[in-house]
Amino acid sequence: MFAPFADRLSRVRERMLDVDVDAILVGPSPDLRYLVGYHAPALERLTLLVLPTVGEPTLIVPQLERLRAESSPAPEFAGIRTWGETDDPFEIVRQVLPHGSSTVAAGDRLWASFLLRIQAALPELKWNAASTVLGPVRARKDPAEIDALRRAGAIADAVAGALRERTVAGVTERDLARWIRRELLERGSERVTFAIVAAGSNAASPHHEPGDRVIEPGDTLVCDFGGTVDGYCSDITRTFFVGTPAGEIERAYAALLEAQEMAVEAVRPGLPAERVDAAARDVLDAAGYGELFVHRTGHGIGLEEHEPPWIVAGNDQALAPGMAFSVEPGIYAAGRFGMRIEDIVVVTDAGVERLNNAPRDAAVVR
Ligand code: ZN
Ligand code: ZN
Ligand code: ZN
Repeated sequence: MFAPFADRLSRVRERMLDVDVDAILVGPSPDLRYLVGYHAPALERLTLLVLPTVGEPTLIVPQLERLRAESSPAPEFAGIRTWGETDDPFEIVRQVLPHGSSTVAAGDRLWASFLLRIQAALPELKWNAASTVLGPVRARKDPAEIDALRRAGAIADAVAGALRERTVAGVTERDLARWIRRELLERGSERVTFAIVAAGSNAASPHHEPGDRVIEPGDTLVCDFGGTVDGYCSDITRTFFVGTPAGEIERAYAALLEAQEMAVEAVRPGLPAERVDAAARDVLDAAGYGELFVHRTGHGIGLEEHEPPWIVAGNDQALAPGMAFSVEPGIYAAGRFGMRIEDIVVVTDAGVERLNNAPRDAAVVR
C-alpha cells in the first residue's frame, strides 16, 4: 500500500541533507498537514513539529489538544510531547532539537510571536525559510493528492456548468457570489475558499470584491471561485457575456481563449515554467492585448490556493510530473471590461492533464 506520509518525510529529509538544514520547525499550517496529517488549529498556544534530518520527529502540542493530535496520523510518525498551561513550551523545543544543530528552517506560516521566542531560547542557530526545503517537495503531488485535486476540480466544473444555465441579469454580484458558494458546498466541497464575481468594468480588477453592482445586459462577467476536497483546492475562472457581446469584446475573448489553449498545450515535463507564461503572453502580445495582461499566467495549487511553482517570467524551474498549477491569462481594460479563463492542470509523464473541463467557449447568458 502507498504510504503518503512516510514517502513525504523521506523526500523532505533527502532535500534537507541537500540544502544543509538540520531541522525543520513547522506550526499549524498546510506544511504540518502535508508532513504528518495533523490539521491543527492556529492558536496562541504553541503547536510545533520538530523534524530533524535524522531521528524521530517530535510534535509539541498543548495538553488540551493531545486527543485531537492523537486522532490524526501524526503519532505514527512523530513522538507527541504535551505541555500544560504553566509549562514553558520553548524549553521543550530546546530539549528535542538534536544537539549540534546549526541551521534550522522555520515554516513560512510559523507566527512571528513563536519564532521570536524560539530564537531567544536558541540564540546560536542560523535560520532559513522552510519553503526552500518544502516548496519543491510539495510542488510534486502524489497520486492521492492528484485524485483530491481532480475531485475538487470536478465540483468547480459542475458549478461553472450550472452558472452558464442560470439567469444572471438583474442579480447583484454579491448575490451571485453567494449562490456560487452555496452550489460549491451542496455539490460536495467541504469549504469555500473564495468566490469572485465581477461585472462590466469591475472585471478589470482581477481580484474584485463582489458588491452591490447589478449585473446588466452588455456586461462581461468574470466568475472565479474554488473550494476544497480532502483539504485540496479548486480554482476555476469562466467569463460570460450577458447578452450578445460587442465585436471588440468578442475579438479580445477569441485571443484570450487561444492564449489559454496555447499555454496549456505547451505544458510538459522538463519545460521551464516561464515558457508556459510566454506561450500565453506571445498570443496576447501579437493580438495587441499584451499591456492589458497584468499578472503572471499561473500559480501552483494543492493544500494552498497559491503555492509553488509560479508560472511567471524569470522562473526557469523545470516542470516535473505531479506538478499542479493554474493557467489563467486575462485581459483587463480599466473602466471598460475584464476577462479571464482559468483551469488547473497537472503535469503528467507524457504531457498535461486538465483538471477543469467546463466549457470555455464564449458563453452568452441571460
Ligand atoms: Zn487570483
Ligand atoms: Zn482563480
Ligand atoms: Zn488562480
